[in-house]
Amino acid sequence: MKNPTVLISGASVAGLSVAYWLRKHGFRPTVIERAPAIREGGYKVDLRGAAIEVASRMGILEAIRGACTDMQGASFVDATGKTFATVSAELFGLHESADVEIMRGTLARLLFERAQDGIEYVFGDSITAIVQGPERVCVVFEKGEPRDFDLVIGADGMHSNVRSLVFGEESEFIRDFGAYVSIFTVPNHLDLDRSERVYVSPGKTANVYSTRGDNEARALFLFASEPVAHDRRDLGAQKRILRDVFGGEAWEIPRLLEAMERTPDFYFDRVAQIQIDRWSNGRVVLLGDAGYAPSLASGQGSSQAVVGAYVLAGELAAADGDHVRAFENYERVMRGYVNENQELGREAIKHMIVRSKEGLWVQTLMLRVLPHLPQMALGWFYSRLKRRVEQAANAVTIEDYASAHTRDGAATRCAS
Ligand SMILES: Cc1cc2nc3c(=O)[nH]c(=O)nc-3n(C[C@H](O)[C@H](O)[C@H](O)COP(=O)(O)OP(=O)(O)OC[C@H]3O[C@@H](n4cnc5c(N)ncnc54)[C@H](O)[C@@H]3O)c2cc1C
Repeated sequence: MKNPTVLISGASVAGLSVAYWLRKHGFRPTVIERAPAIREGGYKVDLRGAAIEVASRMGILEAIRGACTDMQGASFVDATGKTFATVSAELFGLHESADVEIMRGTLARLLFERAQDGIEYVFGDSITAIVQGPERVCVVFEKGEPRDFDLVIGADGMHSNVRSLVFGEESEFIRDFGAYVSIFTVPNHLDLDRSERVYVSPGKTANVYSTRGDNEARALFLFASEPVAHDRRDLGAQKRILRDVFGGEAWEIPRLLEAMERTPDFYFDRVAQIQIDRWSNGRVVLLGDAGYAPSLASGQGSSQAVVGAYVLAGELAAADGDHVRAFENYERVMRGYVNENQELGREAIKHMIVRSKEGLWVQTLMLRVLPHLPQMALGWFYSRLKRRVEQAANAVTIEDYASAHTRDGAATRCAS
């Protein structure tokens, strides 16, 4: 096989998945991650459609279902904390869905456990230069000695370092949605059990939830804002932005902002997409959010990463390591799927942040009315939404690349 040594930048959903599949196909992957260990934290993420099939072929679906969130519903509260509407998972028949919801950190940990044998990991380092030659790529690191690899995969997220080094400035590829999101662990003050509380004011949403078996809770803050200039590595500056935006808000917000100061896993980012015409340049290729982040509004970032990893590794194996052919095929198989899911994100963001008082009034009314609608009307509403998401989640054909699978997935739902 040509090109057996592959360097993967980023040890999250995309990087770990592609390392697993490359190894399975006989390549020799090395994963470099800037953080000192696999990063915990983040929101609950969904695996849907084609990603469920890929997880099954990895032999990891049962473990994912075993660790799923089992969320039962959400209550919407006003400034005094009084609940004015409750939406249960049962109301929409969500328990019947084959999709699986899991905490991002748990998914990363499960993938890491699975992607061990024959994979080299380097934590706490980052690439500083990539020099492509006709036969090899010379990679220079912040800390380690320079090394040669046959191929490099940028799986280092929306603010990809590999993309900046090889493809161009982030500003060329990022499409901003005019919002920020922050997620972090807090004590479970509200004694939540598989449920969430949501507080909305114009242009701002705060949400606290606790999933099955979790002794703590997660706080999510979402707010409308044009890009704010700040250093992305400066957590203090990011926390200050959040305090400034939510400082005057009621409900549990002051307590959550206080807990933010001691949280172990603060996450803060723009709500945005990455759009780039071509995902490869010579021997370097982009995967997951680095190449095609769909934004949290689409709910498809992790599914895309899992599917993209399977297709990229599979096409490399099918082409016997010929990267030119494999990268072209990866692009051909994935492009339509990515376009559909990014479109979903652009549609969804319009409903995620209610920017005006009038809009908030309409949303509150709808939430109050929803549980009282006849089951038929709810069924109609939900099935339309479900069809749209299913269409995007399945808009890719999952080939059987050389049958390198360990299939599982007997369970069809959240194993509670
Ligand atoms: C801690 C964390 C929390 C998240 N929380 C949410 C969330 O709540 N909601 C949501 O929609 N999405 C969240 N995401 C993004 C989500 O995981 C992705 O949209 C999706 O799973 C696709 O994954 P990815 O592997 O392509 O990118 P990511 O999950 O973003 O992973 C990128 C990885 O690359 C690493 N990395 C970055 N720069 C470098 C570098 N220079 N060198 C080496 N490694 C580098 C990062 O540390 C990370 O491990 C989060 C990501 C992280 C890392």
